[in-house]
Amino acid sequence: MEPTLPEPTLREPTMRVAMLRGPGRVDVCDVAAPAPGPDEVVCEVDFCGICGSDLHLVLEGWARPGTWQGHEWVGRVAAVGENVTAWRPGDAVVGGPSERCGRCVMCRAGRPALCEERDAPGQTATTGAFATRIVVRATELLALPAGLDRRRGARRAARGCAARSDPGRRGGG
Ligand SMILES: [Zn+2]
Ligand SMILES: [Zn+2]
Repeated sequence: MEPTLPEPTLREPTMRVAMLRGPGRVDVCDVAAPAPGPDEVVCEVDFCGICGSDLHLVLEGWARPGTWQGHEWVGRVAAVGENVTAWRPGDAVVGGPSERCGRCVMCRAGRPALCEERDAPGQTATTGAFATRIVVRATELLALPAGLDRRRGARRAARGCAARSDPGRRGGG
């Protein structure tokens, strides 16, 4: 049964994250809560899966210390940037893939899931959904299908990621 979750709020000036300190070391700590840029959305994270990529990023030090991972998540829109018209506070969403480059060999072959420029939280400047909130580009969200509970939605996001990732590439998907 789906647990009752608090309504999205931006009152808190901080959010809680599971921050990578070094290979195999994660601390739960509070950091400043994000505000959305003009084309971005801030979401409350309800559930986040743990992907095989996260294990490499955290346990083997693929990600940089001071970042947090997590990219298979479900949540609710809390705030939108001034240019965002596709989402409204309260919308139930699934974190989609990071933006694709559209130029690399895989993108041009019609396989954007394997984009060579795709991001894994913590390998670049971005951070992930092992946090109570996440800020993403509005184009990186998908609507949670009606009738699908949030916990199941996060599980399906993880399955989709596994089915579409490239096992030969670091930071898979
Ligand atoms: Zn690409
Ligand atoms: Zn994944």
